[in-house]
Amino acid sequence: MQILEHMQEQGYEQLLYSVDRTAGLKCLICIHDTTLGPALGGVRMWTYEKEEDAVQDALRLARAMTYKSSAAGLDLGGGKAVLIGNPWKDKSEALFKSLGRAVASLGGRYIATDDVGTTMKDLEYIRTQTPFVTGLPFHLGGSGDSTMPTAHGVLRAMEACAKEVWGKTDLKGKTVAIQGVGKVGANLAQLLHQAGAILTVADINKAAVKAIVKETGAAIVGPDEIASVKCDVFAPCALGGVINSRSIGRLQCQVVCGAANNQLENDSSGDEIRQRGVLYCPDYIANAGGVINLALELTGYDADVAYQKIEGIFETASEVISRSKRQRIATAKAADLMAEERVAGSKKLRSWYTQPCGH
Ligand code: NAD
Repeated sequence: MQILEHMQEQGYEQLLYSVDRTAGLKCLICIHDTTLGPALGGVRMWTYEKEEDAVQDALRLARAMTYKSSAAGLDLGGGKAVLIGNPWKDKSEALFKSLGRAVASLGGRYIATDDVGTTMKDLEYIRTQTPFVTGLPFHLGGSGDSTMPTAHGVLRAMEACAKEVWGKTDLKGKTVAIQGVGKVGANLAQLLHQAGAILTVADINKAAVKAIVKETGAAIVGPDEIASVKCDVFAPCALGGVINSRSIGRLQCQVVCGAANNQLENDSSGDEIRQRGVLYCPDYIANAGGVINLALELTGYDADVAYQKIEGIFETASEVISRSKRQRIATAKAADLMAEERVAGSKKLRSWYTQPCGH
């Protein structure tokens, strides 16, 4: 891949390579677009086979954050950090402090949070070197665990889909198949159970399934069967790429709405699912509750305000659905257009000269 050319084509701003031999740091921080504000995104720690895979991941994930924050109406841009290493073996205080210095060197253009392979504890080490971190525990002025706010947002998005398909938001009696009952999936299962939905769950982790069954009375199926279970809503809450040319033909639901990132294998999957007559709620619309919660940390966290804003996911999802119908395009495309227009509108605003504040 011609990285610089690709970055220029896709509107990227910056890709920072940082190494520190003593601390064992090998990381990339990618900033996609800061038109709307500083680039907020998680630090992913993973054992990439090839350095090129890490670069691709950083680029792809940073861009996705621009879309997620823009569509959620946040004044944030998109960025992501990728830390090359084994999250079960290679972590140390020095490593995350060193990463903190790399984050600090960007002077607030990038704001870190946790992601796959990193935890709040790691963020606390980063915080010793830079204030540009969110997702911290309450005692450090943070917003704590964001998985419940994420699950709340998914529920609101699901209600918007229900309104469209069945004419009312009520999920009572609806059958929902949840793929992955980890942190977000388990919270979503609780919320759906409280709302009167009937659940089927699958997870490769048997202990996670057992706990959910006990709490919600959910039925269990194997991980390979969950996407083709006959149900009203399929909620992917595990991996990306689950909506693809192989799975779309096997879906037996009317709605797909879940927390997993990058659910569509590619752009054509969005068109295929539309042609199949299944309503797909774009992943970054449904799962924006977490980033909405984090954004409030930057101005002083208030849980009531956060949950009020997360309620807005219902409106955003409804707007995406209306636009997709109006323009006869996939919901994924409608969401992308909405996100791109907000960034473009802000760029245009900047082209108007005004006296800078305080000068
Ligand atoms: P998690 O690791 O706690 O949960 C994922 C669960 O999926 C695990 O229990 C795992 O065993 C299970 N799983 C993995 N492969 C599976 C398979 N093939 N079939 C069935 N189950 C499988 O992660 P999480 O924080 O709950 O996040 C879930 C998804 O939501 C991820 O895609 C994540 O990127 C996305 N997301 C999370 C947040 C958040 O606030 N944590 C925010 C936005 C998006």
